[in-house]
Amino acid sequence: MKNKADYDYIFAGAGASTLQIVKQMQQHERFKNKSILILEEDSNKTNDRTWCFWEEKSKDYWQPFVRCQWDNITFSSNTAALQESILPYAYKMIRSNAFYSHVHELVRKNKNIDLKFEKVKSFETKGEVVHVSTAKNSYASTYYFNSVFDWNTAQQQSKFPVLQQHFVGWFIKTKEDCFDPNTATFMDFSVAQKGNTRFMYVLPLSNNEALIEYTLFSKNLLNYAEYEREIRQYLTHKNIRNYSITETEQGSIPMTCYPFSKQNSKRVLHIGSAGGWTKASTGFTFKFIERKATELVAFLSDECDMRLFEKRNRFWWYDLLFLDVLAQHNQKGSFLFSRMFQRNNPKTILRFLDEKTTFSEEVRIMQSFPVGIFVWQLVRRLMRSLH
Ligand SMILES: Cc1cc2nc3c(=O)[nH]c(=O)nc-3n(C[C@H](O)[C@H](O)[C@H](O)COP(=O)(O)OP(=O)(O)OC[C@H]3O[C@@H](n4cnc5c(N)ncnc54)[C@H](O)[C@@H]3O)c2cc1C
Repeated sequence: MKNKADYDYIFAGAGASTLQIVKQMQQHERFKNKSILILEEDSNKTNDRTWCFWEEKSKDYWQPFVRCQWDNITFSSNTAALQESILPYAYKMIRSNAFYSHVHELVRKNKNIDLKFEKVKSFETKGEVVHVSTAKNSYASTYYFNSVFDWNTAQQQSKFPVLQQHFVGWFIKTKEDCFDPNTATFMDFSVAQKGNTRFMYVLPLSNNEALIEYTLFSKNLLNYAEYEREIRQYLTHKNIRNYSITETEQGSIPMTCYPFSKQNSKRVLHIGSAGGWTKASTGFTFKFIERKATELVAFLSDECDMRLFEKRNRFWWYDLLFLDVLAQHNQKGSFLFSRMFQRNNPKTILRFLDEKTTFSEEVRIMQSFPVGIFVWQLVRRLMRSLH
């Protein structure tokens, strides 16, 4: 059966997850002879994403693509205000086009990889081969990796809450110097909460340039005009009046513990956000993709079973409880994040969000929160799992 496949691996979508996996594959001799096809519907992808993440400042893997980095972060709300160094970490920003161009160049140089701009319509496994249809062609592969995210998959169920991290961002340039280029505003909850979890995210690119993003963790999107109105108000409040908008960004990232891996089969693996690789409680994905890509490249063999790839850890449970609370009490985000930042070192929080803390550190972080609300959600969750 196997020789009926045109390719060893087909990837649907040429976004962060596919390109990180393919880049890592190219660094391993054993993938040099594997035939790879990447199918992407959009032939005009440029700077459609600004990816930010933290890691040790000294790490150099992403450095060629890093547009900016910050050693300090601020967190503020009506009850908390802190500015701290996060060294030895740095908060880093990559504009997506730099990464897309790099991997596209890699693809051009490697004869074993094809990149075709075709929209995937469907895929189906027959025997040991996955058949993939686009509007123009059909292809077959031994393994298929799907990064095409479908909101319906998670939204058609009610067992796991589904929130979105949604935002509109403006890249602005000001006449005067208004920003500290060493300090990123991680979360500023001083904006009106209006029954949700709403904050500003400010990333200075220089003394007079910054990305200002109005962000919510909530169920439903706003009208585009409302995000913009809030950014305008925030800038006025900060006494920033003389500015021009040089670029805009908009996005919505899934926040859910829905087990996307249920859709995996022996020959099909869902990757990236479509595979549940987005951290449910924060929306951060980029570094989780890097970690998963490393694990996947080590896991892949000629006869592996993709159903065995995903493993659930205790952080999944923490995220689930947190999302249960946020879905029930969407206005509580500011309070909960404030308590966490008031009572814990930001570096420990970053390690916790990165799923790298020890159990005793996690217990200390959880003690920052009012016990009642989480115990109540835990009871509800356990009762639900019994039915
Ligand atoms: C604007 C924005 C900013 C973000 N910023 C951050 C951040 O700062 N930090 C962080 O950790 N995460 C961030 N994220 C979340 C996450 O890192 C990104 O969404 C990341 O790109 C997810 O990678 P992916 O491979 O799952 O999906 P994508 O990168 O979206 O890749 C999927 C690809 O599939 C293509 N596609 C869709 N349908 C089809 C089809 N039928 N056939 C073929 N191709 C198809 C799409 O065009 C796309 O190229 C951000 C998300 C957005 C939207």
